[in-house]
Amino acid sequence: HLFFLSVLATACLTIPVKAQNPAISTRVENLLAQMTLDEKIGQLNQYNDDGAATGPVTVDGDKENQIRRGELGSMLNVFTVSRMRQFQDIAMQSRLKIPLMFGQDVIHGYKTTFPIPLGEAASWDLEAIRRSARIAATEASAGGVQWTFAPMVDISRDPRWGRVMEGAGEDPYLGSLIAKARVEGFQGEKIGAINSVMACAKHFAAYGAVEAGRDYNSVDMSDRLLWEIYLPPYKAALDAGVATFMTSFNDLNGIPATGNTYLYRDILKGKWNFSGFVVSDWGAIGEMINHGFVKNGKEAARAAITAGTDIDMESRAYKNNLAQLVTEGKVDIALVDDAVRRVLRKKFELGLFDDPYKYFDEKREKEEMNNPEHTKAAREIAAKSIVLMKNNNNLLPISKDVNSIAFIGPLVKEYKQNLGFWSIELNKVDYDQFIVSQWDGLKNKVGKNTKLLYAKGCEIEGTDKGGFAEAIETAKKADIVILSIGERRDMSGEAKSRSDIHLPGVQEDLVKAIQATGKPVVVLINAGRPLIFNWTADNVPAILYSWWLGSEAGNAIADVLFGDMNPAAKLPVTFPREVGQIPIYYNHFNTGRPAECDDCTSYRSAYTDLKNSPKFAFGHGLSYTTFEYKELKLSKTKMNKNETIEVSFKLSNTGKYDGEEVVQLYLRDRVGSVVRPVKELKDFKKIMLRKGETKTITFVIDNNKLCFYDRKLEYKSEAGEFDLMIGSSSDDILLRSEFELVD
Ligand code: BGC
Repeated sequence: HLFFLSVLATACLTIPVKAQNPAISTRVENLLAQMTLDEKIGQLNQYNDDGAATGPVTVDGDKENQIRRGELGSMLNVFTVSRMRQFQDIAMQSRLKIPLMFGQDVIHGYKTTFPIPLGEAASWDLEAIRRSARIAATEASAGGVQWTFAPMVDISRDPRWGRVMEGAGEDPYLGSLIAKARVEGFQGEKIGAINSVMACAKHFAAYGAVEAGRDYNSVDMSDRLLWEIYLPPYKAALDAGVATFMTSFNDLNGIPATGNTYLYRDILKGKWNFSGFVVSDWGAIGEMINHGFVKNGKEAARAAITAGTDIDMESRAYKNNLAQLVTEGKVDIALVDDAVRRVLRKKFELGLFDDPYKYFDEKREKEEMNNPEHTKAAREIAAKSIVLMKNNNNLLPISKDVNSIAFIGPLVKEYKQNLGFWSIELNKVDYDQFIVSQWDGLKNKVGKNTKLLYAKGCEIEGTDKGGFAEAIETAKKADIVILSIGERRDMSGEAKSRSDIHLPGVQEDLVKAIQATGKPVVVLINAGRPLIFNWTADNVPAILYSWWLGSEAGNAIADVLFGDMNPAAKLPVTFPREVGQIPIYYNHFNTGRPAECDDCTSYRSAYTDLKNSPKFAFGHGLSYTTFEYKELKLSKTKMNKNETIEVSFKLSNTGKYDGEEVVQLYLRDRVGSVVRPVKELKDFKKIMLRKGETKTITFVIDNNKLCFYDRKLEYKSEAGEFDLMIGSSSDDILLRSEFELVD
């Protein structure tokens, strides 16, 4: 162990020269040379505003005095500019006047709230996603925030995990592009631009694979799975210039991430040459005691700084132990200096040394928080996130001249619910003014002659069917029924794992009761994760999946219901039929005994009581119009590693509406030195077509699309045959071909 530490101290501490501004380097070195050990450790210490310690140790003395002594470097959850200003005033009384830095979880919007990240991912619209993060950053920075703990780029194949709502789903390719878009959106033109916030790729690494979908649980996975599926989005965030990373709560193969040298020294700061800093997740340094990895706070601090965790968020383990560890020679001062340099560099880049009050501008705050462009963008991306799961007999869109609509369900008249988990909530806002409820959205949309009827029907949870009778009567009076059901917003999110992901409570019974009236029924499902709703899926003619759409939810839903916006979203995650199928994902391996049909169970890799296929596949999502895929052409059918193949086909809009289609390209490597997935998304395009219009779509296959991690974990391609599949979903392949990679 000791040998390893000393090797680290000499071998791993060179700061990469890449992207370093020499003027800043000089300023960092000058400052560092003047700092005492306690002041250095201060830069690695981060507190929450209310200071509720969850770590194993408590803080001595009050926060103000610590700031005055230069013993605190950054804070999270300081919610108002005036309060940030107060803290900064105190920091300016410290000996070296090193400014504090303020971070916050700006996850899907600041004041203007956008769809939850998983919902936005369903748009497959990278430009819209970038824009949403850009607006969030513009508002957050105007609210004094300099650093957001986002994006969460954890891949997840498990809808039981509550934080599936916070990521981009199950696919490494889509997830990587979305990670990049979000980082670019948050950080804008550059760190230090007035409307930029530093982004934080989290949680490094593999947090989305917690066992059995239980939050904070263990992760045990092969290196190949880690490199191939889980790491790519973090790498994409890094390549997009992400300023910071956050550690994860889980252990990875027996070593807690926060103390995992392989993750931060070897991969992130070693192989990947990351020059920013790493913040621990909340209390995660101290939690290594509970993991049984270290005995006490002192050992926790040593493990974390050794592994490369630069800032201690809320464990107080660095604050209370690092100085002693250095004095006793148990932690090399070079490790501390390296971490401090990384933090100071970002403070210089943010411009905080030139003006510690740079981001505190009440005038800008007022302007940015009431920008109608932001509201418009929120409505657009919310509508782009709604997935049309099913639409029998073209029940949707609804005509605006319909005589009467019954809008039924526990979510119809909710305001705050539409925000989903991780919304900032502004502490103070009058929700009814700031959020468009689904009821208000519908009212804004329909003509004067349309009668809107309402009944609640039931609660989200619980067993009470007392409201059914009124709901049934209301349905009977209307031409069409819209049922708004799903989760409560706090049912998916951090620490919100669920073993049962069926539609909660008696909501599916309500669907049955309303469907029995014989009226045409549209079901709108609001949730932070894939839910199971088999009866509804099999019996109700039209279903929209709307996730949590944010402050413009009501307007966006109405836009889609009435066809002002033709839905084009596609599922970024697989929807299981039952919990027993989890983990279920489209890019799985084949087995030696594949179940060729959905029901064959004779010594096949199948369940005896359930189909193998998901209820809704990755990439699924319908439109009000129809598309035809035809005339697939490949520029050649053999390529070597330096060549490319151009793939083209014709896409026509054959239906009655203008619309967008996400065309998806999948590949399968037929034979590999390690087994390969049955299908891997390798490209996609979102195409707008007027009704009757045809466009030629082109993709390019290059060697990079054919690479994978081989037995030695080298990323390369192998000569051989590939299946090429193009379609509207991973289970709706409409064009097929094949080609060969030759040496
Ligand atoms: C979460 C992080 C978050 C942090 C600060 C933790 O519990 O896991 O994602 O950034 O709290 O709020």
